[in-house]
Amino acid sequence: MIGLFGGTFDPVHSGHLRAALDVVQQLRLTELRLLPLAAAVHRRQPIASASQRMAMLEAAIRDEPCLIADDRELKRGGPSYTVDTLESFRDELGAEPPICLLVGADAFAAFGDWHRPLDILALAHLVVMQRPGAVTARDPWTRDQVSQRRVREPDGLRSEPSGRIYFATVTQLDISATRIRRLIINGESPRYLLPDSVLQLALQGGCYTQSNADGA
Ligand code: ATP
Repeated sequence: MIGLFGGTFDPVHSGHLRAALDVVQQLRLTELRLLPLAAAVHRRQPIASASQRMAMLEAAIRDEPCLIADDRELKRGGPSYTVDTLESFRDELGAEPPICLLVGADAFAAFGDWHRPLDILALAHLVVMQRPGAVTARDPWTRDQVSQRRVREPDGLRSEPSGRIYFATVTQLDISATRIRRLIINGESPRYLLPDSVLQLALQGGCYTQSNADGA
């Protein structure tokens, strides 16, 4: 069973990485693809360039063979709709193999507002990762989906290709890319919140500076 984990990754940090590995181990995933988005749909646009974010991601996961950086959303360009990405994986893998789409609890809280959420559930399972401070979904539609589709054990995801929702317990690391960017812009160190190799690339590449700090 494979997993997909999309994000801005601006930059990738230990909150993403530890949660990713927790899910790989709990669900016994054969691989987890990390997919940086090209253009955000519901939030401000990334600050670092696509190639900088991809290079930072590749550096972060170099020594972890089950984590794979996947640049299909960057290559496709334009707004990165999850449903398009899932369709491209279905074209490659066929209809049968289960696909698990990982989302943070904060992202899941707005799932009802995503582009074609029912089509997403027809293409993949959702694995919701608890995140410090994240609220649970409050809108009735999303709550209804959870009550109809929730499985309590990860093995419940293996018997079908898509359509189930599983809440995974992941290490609670209160780390955000926003905080890391702010620390760098203010000339402070974000060390230990992200891999040293990622920090080095961010600093060398001048990814986060006062001049590109608008909205950082
Ligand atoms: P920003 O601060 O720029 O909004 P972010 O730290 O939230 O960025 P994203 O790349 O936007 O990082 O997140 C991608 C996905 O990872 C989202 O589904 C988000 O909920 C999840 N995520 C981010 N940080 C954590 C964390 N510390 N623990 C668990 N999940 C996380």
